Amino acid sequence: MEFSTRAIHVGQEADPSTGATITPIFQTSTYTQQGLGEHKGYEYSRTHNPTRSALEACLASLENADYGLAFASGLAAASAVLSTLRPGDHVVAGDDLYGGSYRLFEKILRPMGVQIDYVPAADVAAYGEAIRPKTRMIWAETPTNPLLNLVDIAAVAKIANERGVTLVVDNTFATPYLQRPLDLGAHVVVHSTTKYINGHSDVIGGAVLTSDHKLYDEIKFYQNAAGGVPSPFDSWLTLRGVKTLAVRMRQHCENARRVADFLAGHPRVQKVYYPGLATHPDHALAKCQMRDFGGMVSFAFEGTRADVDAFVRRLKLFALAESLGGVESLCCHPASMTHGSIPKEERERRGITDTLLRLSVGIEDADDLIADLDQALGKQTQTHAAPKKVKVEAGARG
Ligand SMILES: *Cc1c(COP(=O)(O)O)cnc(C)c1O
Repeated sequence: MEFSTRAIHVGQEADPSTGATITPIFQTSTYTQQGLGEHKGYEYSRTHNPTRSALEACLASLENADYGLAFASGLAAASAVLSTLRPGDHVVAGDDLYGGSYRLFEKILRPMGVQIDYVPAADVAAYGEAIRPKTRMIWAETPTNPLLNLVDIAAVAKIANERGVTLVVDNTFATPYLQRPLDLGAHVVVHSTTKYINGHSDVIGGAVLTSDHKLYDEIKFYQNAAGGVPSPFDSWLTLRGVKTLAVRMRQHCENARRVADFLAGHPRVQKVYYPGLATHPDHALAKCQMRDFGGMVSFAFEGTRADVDAFVRRLKLFALAESLGGVESLCCHPASMTHGSIPKEERERRGITDTLLRLSVGIEDADDLIADLDQALGKQTQTHAAPKKVKVEAGARG
């Protein structure tokens, strides 16, 4: 079965008790048992829920995995994978990570005695060089956030396999429609289903997909023991969203390509980061590792932080907001939003400057999106009201 067919059918057979064509929302915490130790495979909804099972089966199929586990958020999914580590274990991670993953590594894992080293995300050899006797896991994200560098998954998987290390790939940005890390040799895929998989910016969710039976057992145990599961309704919404993943991704990619081309030709834009541009350093790798180039476009603004502020205030269609992967277009300022929990020096070292913006290009009409960017870029910077001071506790963002 091809991808779009699996997205609509796998795990979603008609309900045997009623014939309901669409998987019902099994909004129940418990299940009536027939006798002592006799039940229909469901006892308590933290452990198993049929709506969640349908989602887990569908997502596993889309990543060509034997097993799927759904979680209450992408970070709950990541935590479940990281729960397989023990004090003294070592992780090698790409350095251009989702800010929340970095926070999880630094503020939760490190104090628990897990060592983490970061390597330049796109530098394949660096992953191998950072491996030590206690290294258990490599954590990679590709394309990276927000600079859209690529990690050569097959090459890193080869190193991981030779050295007996588990390779985990956060596939949130690419989605299984564009890229399937397990097919390239990775052992575990993590998703924030909040993004493209659900696709409608109305659910927080996550998933872990793997064909490694032992890891699955450990992570499944943790899912039940720690309890970060999605509700039946959230599972249902995500299952509904994923049905249109293929068509949405095709439109996201087409629109992003148009937006990237437009930005690349605009005098107020210093640099465009999009793997679909021939000028992108990983363009050739993107062509063979991914089906298409994705819906995320980042760009550096020619000007000051105040110019960037004026630009985002003028946008009408692009909403200034965190997150990505929904049908509507969003614009994010990583330095103050998604990556606000990374210390400034560390952030700037990675190229996440105050004038970098990240677009999640939606599936509106591309002409309207370009017209919006054009009007917001076009005008000269005007003096504008001093920004409202909003006090946010350090590390509390996103
Ligand atoms: C959003 C995101 C996460 C975290 O997911 P939540 O659902 O917000 O917990 C992890 N990785 C990437 C790449 C993300 O974009």
